[in-house]
Amino acid sequence: MAEFRFNAMQEVLNRKTVEVVREENLISDYYGMMVFDQAKMKKYLSKEAFKAVTDAIGKGTTIDRKMADQVAQGMKAWAIENGATHYTHWFHPLTDGTAEKHDAFIVHGADGSVIESFSGSLLAQQEPDASSFPSGGIRQTFEARGYTAWDPTSPAFISETTLTIPTIFISYTGEALDYKTPLLRALTAVDKAATSVCQYFDKNVSSVHTNLGWEQEYFLIDEALYMARPDLVLTGRTLMGHASSKDQQLDDHYFSSIPTRANRYMQDVENEAYKLGIPIKTRHNEVAPNQFEFAPIYEECNLANDHNQLIMDIMQKVARRHKFRVVFHEKPFAGINGSGKHNNWSLATNTGVNLYSPGKNPKSNLQFLTFVINTLKAVHDSQDLLRASILTAPNSHRLGANEAPPSILSVFLGTEVSKMLDLMEEAVVDRKMTPDEKTALKLNIGRIPEIILDNTDRNRTSPFAFTGNRFEFRAVGSSANNASAMIVLNTVMTKQLNNFKTAVDALIEKDVKKDEAIFQVLKELIIESKPIRFNGDGYSDDWVKEAAKRGLTNVNSVPESLSAYMRPESKALFASIGIFNESELSGRVEVEYEKFIMKIQIEARVLGDIAINHIVPTAVQYQTMLLENVKNLKEVFSADEFKKLAGARIELIKEIGGHITAIKAKVKEMVEARKKANVIDEIIEKSEVYDKTVRPYLDDIRFHIDKLELIVDNEKWPLPKYRELLFVR
Ligand code: ADP
Ligand code: MG
Repeated sequence: MAEFRFNAMQEVLNRKTVEVVREENLISDYYGMMVFDQAKMKKYLSKEAFKAVTDAIGKGTTIDRKMADQVAQGMKAWAIENGATHYTHWFHPLTDGTAEKHDAFIVHGADGSVIESFSGSLLAQQEPDASSFPSGGIRQTFEARGYTAWDPTSPAFISETTLTIPTIFISYTGEALDYKTPLLRALTAVDKAATSVCQYFDKNVSSVHTNLGWEQEYFLIDEALYMARPDLVLTGRTLMGHASSKDQQLDDHYFSSIPTRANRYMQDVENEAYKLGIPIKTRHNEVAPNQFEFAPIYEECNLANDHNQLIMDIMQKVARRHKFRVVFHEKPFAGINGSGKHNNWSLATNTGVNLYSPGKNPKSNLQFLTFVINTLKAVHDSQDLLRASILTAPNSHRLGANEAPPSILSVFLGTEVSKMLDLMEEAVVDRKMTPDEKTALKLNIGRIPEIILDNTDRNRTSPFAFTGNRFEFRAVGSSANNASAMIVLNTVMTKQLNNFKTAVDALIEKDVKKDEAIFQVLKELIIESKPIRFNGDGYSDDWVKEAAKRGLTNVNSVPESLSAYMRPESKALFASIGIFNESELSGRVEVEYEKFIMKIQIEARVLGDIAINHIVPTAVQYQTMLLENVKNLKEVFSADEFKKLAGARIELIKEIGGHITAIKAKVKEMVEARKKANVIDEIIEKSEVYDKTVRPYLDDIRFHIDKLELIVDNEKWPLPKYRELLFVR
């Protein structure tokens, strides 16, 4: 067994770097070459068809069948010219990752030959065999079929030899079975709500779109070492492994020079990304050894999220060329940093104003503050829902660990914006303000300094931080589909903006001047949302205590966190804003519970296997060796000398025996716990039982294995150790 481990290391040492050839010298020469973008549409579509598509993108109008046929013809012509032989509808089911089913363009011609064909109906709609995608019972209740429908707001592209068409995935009766459908709904909702609030400040605003810039963290592990770790292969994380004597203590990996092999890999990924129009901008080392990050220039949220899903796929494919495996798990290695996916989020108007950028005058600054304060209130009121949107089995290992924000939602504003909010809270009075008071307040509001933009008081420990011109939702997990967080964030923001508008309008009805009405409502929101504001160290123990005092919730259990979705007020919220009807919501939440159960179940099985089939036999072998040694000593030496010589060894034999016994007993108990949990039908109860009775064994058993790793002869240990996984390159 140990041979496998040593051979793997030898293989790594013999690796050669893969040369990467860029398509062209300048990125701009091949950027987007595989995307059916506006320029290509213009070339390949009739004027009418081009207008139909651009209207659909810009104004949300529908494309009729005749136009769809024309678009399909143009798309096909372009795709075939660029080497495509197949097409697929590409969608985001509720599993991790994306789904696609490739069909060839060919159909039978009249004489039995084949011709390339693609029609508007094939572009617009496809019916994959949906029965194997999770729906949480929606399809059983309604209709077994699901279909995919074209999302013209995200351009089609060619992936290898397949024309890939981004689509939504819905049941026959229109229920969303994916992430994209509700995301599009939430983006439309927040557009409407934000636009009407912007009307207070600028009548020219007719639409507001959401921007998303994700930062994707990941680990790169050599393929040979990865393959020698069944736990990494099957669960995405190491279920055992003693900490390496050196890991990230010296902080010598963060932003240091990227190892050549990894650098080549990144260039290769970027090359592929650029062809698909994914604007990757940044690559760097992260804190933990072998941990890295990619970040693009932000884009419209739906497109940005498609691009994130796409790049995760590209990253995995390209990794194979370089003999790496990408690990997206939120906490693949205990004791060192896990990976997140910071979601940089902002709202921007059709007039080109970022609503989270301080303006140049009091009026635009008041608009900026309006959006900041409403965001605070939304996060404050919906902290549980926001947490539910990001807390998954893997992410629960990361949140609350020493390098990640705890499972408490809080918002960092920085000193300047905080000061401004304090000032508004003080200056606004309940009675009608005097002209002088108003002028003074407006003057102050106009003074938000430019320094916010390059503010240095960045807080890296906040789960939700204002970073100068956007909010950064940092608690999102690295393996997640961003849509989960973006659906909830945009929904709760919509609700809050609607409430704000209603409150301001009510005051205006009562003859309060518009600006004064806005001041008054904002003041209330500042006061009500105060507990969520926190500029201090989010990783400290003090904060956990302080947050409890403030009445903020702190939940690390996935089943408990998910229950927030099913509260009556959540159901009402999602239904009233048109994001999920009740069956869509409960179906989706059921899928989340199922995923949680499955993940723990798989981990428990894998750990049981490795413990019994790899670790225990190895430990027994080593123990036998020691026993032999003791026997030999006894033969050779006098009783007195033997006592002196064998004492420590006998202790070690006992210690190993103790761990072996404990592992065997605990694995048995864990299997029993699983058996009990598996007979429970009710999914929420089952997930809670898994959480409380199965999951703890993972750490318990690991403890003994990690102890054995320190004792057993290195020559015999079967699994690559942390120091090898993280440092042999
Ligand atoms: P840092 O690691 O310092 O947070 P990065 O440069 O790694 O910064 O990533 C910042 C991300 O935020 C990038 O994807 C960037 O495009 C995005 N971003 C910048 N401005 C905005 C904005 N107004 N709205 C949304 N995302 C933004
Ligand atoms: Mg960031």
